[in-house]
Amino acid sequence: MQEALLTPYPFAQVALPVPMRTLFDYKIPKAMALRHRLMPGMRVKVPFGKSSRLGVIVSFSEQSQWDENNIKPITSLQDETAVIPNELMALCKWAARYYHHPIGDVIFHALPVLLRKGENAEFRTENWWFTTPEGQQKDLESLNKAPRQQDFLKAVQQHPNGMSQNAISSLSLSPSAGKALEEKGLLRREQRSFNKAGEKHTHQTQVPPVLNQEQRLATDHLLDMASSFGVALLDGVTGSGKTEVFLRVMEKLIEDGKQILVMVPEIGLTPQTLKRFESRLHTDIVLMHSHMSDRERLDAWLLSASGHAKVIIGTRSAAFIPAPNLGLIVIDEEHDASYKQHEGFRYHARDLAIKRAQSLNIPVLLASATPSFESLANALQKRFDWLRLRQRAGNAQIPKMERVDLRGQTLVNGFSQHALESMKQCLDRQEQVLVFLNRRGYAPTLMCHQCGWIASCDHCDVNLTVHKRANKLHCHHCDAQKALLHTCPECQSDELFTVGEGTEQIETQLTALFKEVPILRIDRDSTQRKSAMTQLTQKIHEHNQAILIGTQMLAKGHHFPNVTLVIVMDADAGLFSADFRGMERTAQLITQVAGRAGRSKKPGHVLLQTYHPDHAAIECLCNLGYEHFAIDGLAERKALSLPPFFHQVIVRAESGNEQEAMQLLAAMKNDLTPQFPEGLFSVGPYTAIIVRKAGQHRALLSIKSANRAPLHQITALMTNWLEQATRQHKIRFAIDVDPLET
Ligand code: ADP
Ligand code: ZN
Ligand code: ZN
Repeated sequence: MQEALLTPYPFAQVALPVPMRTLFDYKIPKAMALRHRLMPGMRVKVPFGKSSRLGVIVSFSEQSQWDENNIKPITSLQDETAVIPNELMALCKWAARYYHHPIGDVIFHALPVLLRKGENAEFRTENWWFTTPEGQQKDLESLNKAPRQQDFLKAVQQHPNGMSQNAISSLSLSPSAGKALEEKGLLRREQRSFNKAGEKHTHQTQVPPVLNQEQRLATDHLLDMASSFGVALLDGVTGSGKTEVFLRVMEKLIEDGKQILVMVPEIGLTPQTLKRFESRLHTDIVLMHSHMSDRERLDAWLLSASGHAKVIIGTRSAAFIPAPNLGLIVIDEEHDASYKQHEGFRYHARDLAIKRAQSLNIPVLLASATPSFESLANALQKRFDWLRLRQRAGNAQIPKMERVDLRGQTLVNGFSQHALESMKQCLDRQEQVLVFLNRRGYAPTLMCHQCGWIASCDHCDVNLTVHKRANKLHCHHCDAQKALLHTCPECQSDELFTVGEGTEQIETQLTALFKEVPILRIDRDSTQRKSAMTQLTQKIHEHNQAILIGTQMLAKGHHFPNVTLVIVMDADAGLFSADFRGMERTAQLITQVAGRAGRSKKPGHVLLQTYHPDHAAIECLCNLGYEHFAIDGLAERKALSLPPFFHQVIVRAESGNEQEAMQLLAAMKNDLTPQFPEGLFSVGPYTAIIVRKAGQHRALLSIKSANRAPLHQITALMTNWLEQATRQHKIRFAIDVDPLET
């Protein structure tokens, strides 16, 4: 009689991390099929070309479309269970179709780095030390001659539940003493899996505030939605208590045994946020972000995949974390552009999360004080439930916004007289000032007084930023760096001067102006070390008086109760941007920064320095607020057939040669235009706003349509065309569906 196969299929379709939009067929060896129940989502080793690769099984089949004799067998099986559960496999397949991206790359992107490299999907093990019954009784005096053994045994005797190797090491106990005690039969060792779930939660409990009317209505609404798919937009002004609302909903879901994924922007996760979650939700919380080591990320992934972790707080890539009991996805600061990946697999984590929630039939909560135009349009069209919080929680007031007309004014270090005076008064009241300038470094340009030479990047069409303290010139686009120059390379003059201000310069100048006041700069340069941000925020909380200077890093999520004055140095940045989203971004940033003012009992004040105080957008933002501004902006987008009313795909091409990228896209357009479905518009090819970046000349072609179907149809054709055409050339192309940058 024939033995029954656990995996009754002869072929498997395997995804490999290669830039080909296809799966690869492999034979399932009989012995493997007899011993294992193979499942989609398991990793396998397979031969590929002349080497061997790690792949992920996507499906099985009775037959192959290829000549069976040429199909190679799977070499080995890497997992006993799927590392990509069915639900996520479906999401990956959808994403590969929607973003026109190679399936293998999508699936590998969904895995933590160590699993991509073949690490076992298991908790790492750790040594634990225990006393034997004999060791527990042992009189420590008898070890007087071996003091290190005495110390070791004493420590373990005091821990009846054992001590981890970690704990032993932290006490600097001698490893050889441990071994000696083990040989004497006084101690024993055990391998235990590292799994911090179930540890005691010793955080201080915080008594939750009484919700106000708006918060209560929102919370009730969300609790009503909790058992099926739906998207809610929690649109609440800064400090309106949005976090408080979703903490309530989370508490309830955790009681029901659910897991919750909370997505945060790339740099929006502050130690403050985590502490707040821990003090309110007495459960296992894991983090998933780019500052963690690969091993820490795998540990978090395992804790979530095993269902131990009830709350997962993570950035973009956490959209793919397995969580068997997922009951809610929260996307905080949903308007943030860091949710969209800007290279390779260009997905939008918010849109993926919504798709995922839909197939799991669970709700999604998008929270923001400045919702994206996309989400607002969905709310206006009643596709999303629109929950508005228009008051600040507690006794805090909405800050007053005032425009400061810079025309004809004499500025001191970029500040108007009015701004400087307001700053002095604020500091005199023992309160804090926040100065916002979205440009790090000392100055954006270095120029020669004699010949007009400007320091520009060798690889990009941009100027180099001056960093005085680091004594270098730095390209913020390709990261190229060189030593700061003191003589002009063109005319040898030593009269070089900087143009414009960056945060480093403002810091230097304000330090001279306000000698007694603590001044703290928060930008990407000052917070490079892992702990720097914590230390800086701690300092801010320690002082009454202080000046905080920062870039957009300061705009996100922080709560500095003593900040009562916010100065936006350059409200005009983005006003005349070539990107149609420029104004949306500026308005979001200004509103978010302004929201740092007056977050507790003291009222806040915001000064916007501008050369265009009468500009309709600035006036609207100042007098009527973000919602008005956004609704006007949406009307304009509609009139101009722009997203979100029209859907867009951008095809990007780049090459080292100046013309090649443009020529490629022009040839493609020429070939495919006869096949363009009706209602499709194309613009271009044209060059990128910054044409050359990191030595690559960049061209784009934009395709728009009111409907998605024809857009996807033509994108599939373009992708095929480009794959064929670029096989011979060194031109790279990328498909960007729902692009956020042009
Ligand atoms: P948001 O997420 O909208 O910025 P938070 O939830 O962080 O707002 O709330 C801002 C501050 O107000 C926090 O310090 C929070 O503890 C407090 N807070 C929230 N809701 C209330 C309330 N109903 N009563 C009093 N204080 C509240
Ligand atoms: Zn010169
Ligand atoms: Zn550069």
